[in-house]
Formats: sequence, structure tokens, C-alpha cells
Amino acid sequence: MKKFVAILFSIFLYTGTAFANDKIALMYNIIPDDDSKKNSVIDSNVQKKLSFKLYQNQETIYFNDKEVVVTNGKFDIDISNLTGKQEIKFTNAQKEEATFTYYISDKSGLVKGYMLENKQAYVKTVDNTKILYTAKDAAKMNYISKLITNMPTETKVNLKEMKLLPVNHSSGAAGITDYNKVTLYNLSTYTDKEIQRIVTHEIAHTWAHELRKNKVIDYSYSDFGTAVKVDNNYVTNYSKNSLSEDFADSIASYLADSVSFAKKFPARADYISTLL
Ligand SMILES: [Zn+2]
Repeated sequence: MKKFVAILFSIFLYTGTAFANDKIALMYNIIPDDDSKKNSVIDSNVQKKLSFKLYQNQETIYFNDKEVVVTNGKFDIDISNLTGKQEIKFTNAQKEEATFTYYISDKSGLVKGYMLENKQAYVKTVDNTKILYTAKDAAKMNYISKLITNMPTETKVNLKEMKLLPVNHSSGAAGITDYNKVTLYNLSTYTDKEIQRIVTHEIAHTWAHELRKNKVIDYSYSDFGTAVKVDNNYVTNYSKNSLSEDFADSIASYLADSVSFAKKFPARADYISTLL
């Protein structure tokens, strides 16, 4: 009997909780449904609208006091006339508010109000990659854009964002990759040849994450490691650090000149050609 009461009580609790959660607050009901959720900077040259979805598709949403048209739980906001810092505010019948902050560039790429290391930021989209930079690296942007455009499509599948910071990293590193985001430090202080190596090396790291996810290469780079053993040499001094760094340096050298790379590192070149 005791057990029966306990069960009844827990059912009552559960039902109570379900009712309490029936209507979630507006700020949790609206979810950004595009790349903007990962980065609040919008390149107005390529993005003209913001997309959102509703966690629960059952309430009327207002933007600027006008009802938003929701289709299959999704809606868009036209931002083609907006630049600079924008607080996109939604309301509902209960007068709840949900605000999302965006920094929208002008046609020249200037993202008013958005700073990188206290310097005015600019944005440029190359392929599907958003590149944030400052005036310090502006003169190198054409070179970097061409570099990225000319890389094989496969190598860029996991590249989502690139930041060119006008400062040195505390470790002295020229570039750091965080899964699908690449950060580069004081890039304009390097020669074009060095920039080619730095940029392709970091993009190779983003690619390696994708290859591992798809189990094309394993976490210990076993197959690539076999190729390295067969070649029996180092691509660079830096590549001695790990197979992951050897892979990134190998991709950088292979993309710069695959013919001369294949002469010195035939097993690696064979392996890389199977990936591309
Ligand atoms: Zn590296």
C-alpha cells in the first residue's frame, strides 16, 4: 500500500512538472538557426537574413510590433538594410522578450562596433569561411583569399571561421586551430611563402578533425604513420613534434608543390593523394 501511494505521488509530481514546463520562456523558445549562432558577426555581402526556429511551435512572435510569419516552426528576419551593432528583439503575447545581438558589416566589410584586440574588425567571406581581420592584415587579404580558394574543396569542409589577430600569441605560435576555427597571429609580419605554409597547415588541422570523424584516419594517425616510417625522414623540424603536426606540414608542402614533395616524401604523397 505504501508503494502504491508513493507511485501515485510521483505521478502527481510528474504531471505537475509537465504543466509547469508547458509554456517555456520566449528567450528559450527562439533559437538562432544558422551560422550566426556560432558567431554574431554577419557579412552583409553574403547574408541578407537571420534564420530562427522555435523550440515549441505554438506561439505568436512579434518583431518591431509586427507578427512574424512562422512556417514549420521557422522564421527569417530581413537584415539587408541593417549595419553595425543590432539588438534583434522579439516579443510574444505575454510581453516576454528575447534579444539577440549581431554585428552586421557594411559593403566594405567594416563591422562597426566589433573589435579584435581593441582594433576595428572587418569581415570577408571566402568560399564558406568567414574571415575576421583588422587593418593591419588588410593588404594580405587578397593573397589569403586566393590561397584558400585554390585549396582542394575536401580540405576546407571543416573550416568555418578564421580570425587574423593583430598581436603575437604568448607562445609565439603563428596559428592555432580549435576544431573548425583557425586563429592566426600577426600574419602580415610573415612572407607570402610563410603565410602559405601557416594558413594551409592550420586548415589541414581542421580537415584532420573531419577525416577522424569520418574514420578515414584514426586518432593515432596509424596509416599516415606507416607512410612516415616508409619515407624514413622528417618533413620539417616542427613535424617531429607529432604525427598530427607532420600531417599538417605535409599537406602544406604537398599543396605548395606536389611534384617536388613526392620526390622527397613518396609514401606520404601516395597517402595524401588517396585523401584528395
Ligand atoms: Zn600545427
